[in-house]
Amino acid sequence: MNYIVIDFEATCWKFPKTPEEQEIIEIGAVRLDRYGHLVDKFCCFVQPVIHPKLSYFCMELTGIQQADVDKAKLFPVNYDLLLNWIELQPDYRFIAWGAFDERLLKMNCQFHNLEIFWEQDFINIKNQYAQIQQLAKPIGLMKAIKTEKFEFEGEHHRAFDDAYNTAKIFSKYIDDWVIL
Ligand code: AMP
Ligand code: MG
Ligand code: MG
Repeated sequence: MNYIVIDFEATCWKFPKTPEEQEIIEIGAVRLDRYGHLVDKFCCFVQPVIHPKLSYFCMELTGIQQADVDKAKLFPVNYDLLLNWIELQPDYRFIAWGAFDERLLKMNCQFHNLEIFWEQDFINIKNQYAQIQQLAKPIGLMKAIKTEKFEFEGEHHRAFDDAYNTAKIFSKYIDDWVIL
């Protein structure tokens, strides 16, 4: 089994627009082997097309600058690069903290008319973590990192750093997740 721990940053606004208008602007992922050891990394910016200009709110939240996305490739190109990097072997799962990433990826694929074949392969570990830790309700990634007494390495709300820190939690409980 291969685990692709993944996180996306997306366009966002102080006063939210419809979910269909949110586009991926950064993809970050790490590949873990079946033991939870990090074997590879993936990171790229993506140029949004519905709202090409990032809001100040978004730049403030993520630290991603207009120039970062202006020089980036469009989603279909980066999606292709991501899939090539994953080398979709029969035995892999996407791992994400929360339901947002799967939803966002689905919407962006639909918008660009790209095939969605990974729906069965997405695992949201946020709820599972709450069960493992017997928490009253699911918690955010940053809070989970603090619960583990880990250091958050890098910047929260950057796709690679979020994926990397999610992977630390995933690895710690590698034997406990329900992976169907
Ligand atoms: P995250 O992986 O937590 O960095 O969140 C992914 C994306 O969700 C961000 O790039 C934003 O588009 C959106 N997002 C996260 N937190 C917020 C927030 N507090 N307010 C508005 N949008 C947010
Ligand atoms: Mg996230
Ligand atoms: Mg993030």
